[in-house]
Amino acid sequence: MIPQDQRRQGIGMTSQRTRERLTQRLRSAGVVNESILQVMQTTPRHLFVEEALASRAYEDTALPIGFGQTISQPLIVARMTEALITPDRPQRVLEVGTGSGYQAAVLAQLVRQVYTLERIARLRERADELFRELGLTNIYTRHVSGEQGWQQKAPFDGIIVTAAPREVPAMLLAQLAVGGRLVAPIGTAQRQELLVIERGRDGFHERRLGKVSFVPLLVGLE
Ligand code: SAH
Repeated sequence: MIPQDQRRQGIGMTSQRTRERLTQRLRSAGVVNESILQVMQTTPRHLFVEEALASRAYEDTALPIGFGQTISQPLIVARMTEALITPDRPQRVLEVGTGSGYQAAVLAQLVRQVYTLERIARLRERADELFRELGLTNIYTRHVSGEQGWQQKAPFDGIIVTAAPREVPAMLLAQLAVGGRLVAPIGTAQRQELLVIERGRDGFHERRLGKVSFVPLLVGLE
């Protein structure tokens, strides 16, 4: 085995056995989509967190990734992915808030193209390096303030926001295809709810999936 394969596969607390325990946990928490569970079982989350935290990468918990940001809790990643993906699978997905790149890496194995936006330059660079290492060639990143979306690549079948705005950014709704879905945590630092907004021919329809806790969506570059 070459060292890069070893790095990807992990040992001990990052091994396949540890990952299977996480998937079991997601299943018992109500995640039913087997393709999502399969992808999460094989995606090396330990590479998306700082090395010192690698042994905790398969716990069902959010972890720091530097710059005051966090990689989302696996159960939340699974739930948001499940809410985004319909039986006919979205082909083009936009993510606002690349962060570690983990959510984008999961999505890239389930949909055709992932476009992801990050306002912190170093996080975007690190994520790009990992996507390259993992051979995920269908992820396109940009260093921009993401509430504007990515007009040139619109419309999107799915939009996932992984930092919480106070309200759904209108520019993002405008970039959603008819039949598409937007999944986003909406609210203040104290009180956020996960919203799913579907764009029908007759307008937007909203569903709520319960309380969550995300870092705030900030405007401007870093
Ligand atoms: N999806 C990420 C979780 C990221 S945490 C993962 O899987 O790791 C939220 C991220 O959103 C942070 O990296 C933060 O810098 C970024 N963010 C916050 N406001 C933003 C904005 N306006 N545009 C783009 N990214 C933003």
